[in-house]
Amino acid sequence: KIQRFNALAEMLTGVSRELALGQPVDQVYRTEAAEDASLSRHPGVERRHRLLLLAPGRSLHIAESRSRWKDDRGRELGWVILFRDITEDYRLRRELRESESRFQDFADTAADLYWEMDAELRFTRVSGKVRFLMGHEPEFVLGKTRQELYAGQPIEHSEHFRRHIEMLEKRQPFRDFIASWRWEDGGMRYVSISGRPLFDDQGRFLGYRGVSRDITESKQAEERLRHQALHDQLTGLPNRSLILDRLEQLIALGRRNGQQVAVLFIDLDDFKKINDSLGHETGDRLLLDVADRLQGTLRHCDSVGRLGGDEFIVLIPDLEQPRQILDLADKLRKSLLEPFVVDGRELQVSASIGITSFPEDGEEPSELLRKADTAMYQAKARGRNACAFFTEEMNRSLQRRLEVEERLLGALERGELFLVYQPKIELSTARLAGFEALLRWNNPQLGRVSPEEFIPLAENSGQIIPIGDFVLQQALDFICRWQERGLPAVPVAINLSPRQFRQPELASHIAESLDRRDLPGSVLELEITEGVLLSGHETVSQSLRELSRQGILLAMDDFGTGYSSLGYLREFPFDVLKIDRSFINGIEERDADRELVDAVVAMAQRLKLRVVAEGVEKPEQRRLLQEIGCDHVQGWLFGKPMSEQELQQRFGAQ
Ligand code: C2E
Ligand code: CA
Ligand code: CA
Repeated sequence: KIQRFNALAEMLTGVSRELALGQPVDQVYRTEAAEDASLSRHPGVERRHRLLLLAPGRSLHIAESRSRWKDDRGRELGWVILFRDITEDYRLRRELRESESRFQDFADTAADLYWEMDAELRFTRVSGKVRFLMGHEPEFVLGKTRQELYAGQPIEHSEHFRRHIEMLEKRQPFRDFIASWRWEDGGMRYVSISGRPLFDDQGRFLGYRGVSRDITESKQAEERLRHQALHDQLTGLPNRSLILDRLEQLIALGRRNGQQVAVLFIDLDDFKKINDSLGHETGDRLLLDVADRLQGTLRHCDSVGRLGGDEFIVLIPDLEQPRQILDLADKLRKSLLEPFVVDGRELQVSASIGITSFPEDGEEPSELLRKADTAMYQAKARGRNACAFFTEEMNRSLQRRLEVEERLLGALERGELFLVYQPKIELSTARLAGFEALLRWNNPQLGRVSPEEFIPLAENSGQIIPIGDFVLQQALDFICRWQERGLPAVPVAINLSPRQFRQPELASHIAESLDRRDLPGSVLELEITEGVLLSGHETVSQSLRELSRQGILLAMDDFGTGYSSLGYLREFPFDVLKIDRSFINGIEERDADRELVDAVVAMAQRLKLRVVAEGVEKPEQRRLLQEIGCDHVQGWLFGKPMSEQELQQRFGAQ
């Protein structure tokens, strides 16, 4: 029964002392065990965390302790019960514990890693994805410094890492330090680490604390993008911009060490044929194999890149003699001659290689590349499967080409272009049989420029379209004037280039031009080379048929050069065959040439084609051609290409 009851007991239980005294404890107040009875125990004191139940639904957390109440002689008189209100205490503890466990949950499940370091920069706490981000179990990490942890990693000796450690030693905060971690399987993991130093109230350094975030995926995506921007999709080799970049570095290095850097421009011969006949997939696989073989042939310090198509670039640093370059280029060229096996098929490949070197040919990466390209074309011109050094002469022709291209722009508008006419003669009667209209260009700066030089450039740039039309209109006007003067009505031939034939409206345009002047098709002859037919467009064959229907004569020009496919002569409606000058040239000296011309004439007669021999310069050539039975001749022996006036003087009297 309660003997004493102090004021605080009254306040906590809400029962007055008068009512409490003399009553059994459990009738004055009731307590029950708190679910979480984890308060500390003192020896000799039974101290429990209990709930003091008040009104229904109301209770207080109390710490209750009971001890024996003894008199001076140690006789037991009863119990002393002490209450302490720990409600507030309890709430704070619980909140703390909750936030601690919330933090723990967060640290354990987040992709992040939380860490703490002591004043010696050793890890004292790590949680989260430790194994994943640091490559070790937490136990291994604890007690180690960052340097110890990163020993043997690629990043260990980097400037980047050194600066980071310096920062830690200076006790500075840091943000987004990117560290990488290589796994045993070679894969890389990237983390972004941020941290700040900790100081106590007296400003003493305690250590660091921070987080590390996994950024591997974004890093990989970034790297993939960078790789894509700098590498060729198909082969994975460096592309043009990376090659130029590397070349720039090599040049800087070469300048310092006094060494040469060579650039090889490699272009496969006739790759287009492989692509066209076997398909792009086979072509792609072949390119992959070529890339492999080039890499296999080179030293470790050399680099290979691909510019696209069948063009590869090789950079060779630290060369001492030009001789070495040629040896290496030859080795590469020969390595490609071994047949490739693609899709079970053996493919024979060859390459033409152009060579430039720093400092001899230039100091600029793009300049060296351009000149190597020019040298490569030279190698092709030498018959392919060859290597060619860039020379000053090529440089001059490159310069010249650029200048001619520039001046050709607007030449038509400035009235610098005009036609001359070369007569064709019937051998049996020595009479005029026709003319070939040939284009001339007289430029104030360049002087006379040969069509052999500027026509290919115009063809390349597309200017051949307006120029070609100019030739057509001029030639037709010439025919009108010629007929008005009552001169012999013979066909006039004009040359058409491949690009012109790619216009689907070519035939109708020519028809209109004839109609406008009331001219029949038979006044016009069109000379075309195999280049036109090789492009293989359906429109070419259609145009040729259409033109032939209009009565326009078709002549196969330069026969004997190129492929000289007899199939073309049968397939397309040709009327005339022009034997190339190069055969007529040697006809009186070389039996082989004479036999060839003989055979061509015989064949042409069977196909009902008229034969014209071009470039007849000597009476002896005329005699032989007469013997062989050639129909028409054209050449300086009978008249050079001349102006309309000169023509009139010569043929007007006929
Ligand atoms: P091509 O069609 O084979 O023209 C014949 C070339 O041989 C002409 O050169 C002519 O002047 C030259 N020639 C004629 N007889 C002799 C000779 O006895 N000896 C020598 N050594 N040469 C002779 P040209 O006028 O310099 O034309 C060169 C080429 O330029 C032409 O070769 C033709 O492919 C092209 N061309 C000329 N005019 C035109 C044109 O209006 N349009 C197109 N597309 N090409 C043209
Ligand atoms: Ca011609
Ligand atoms: Ca010709």
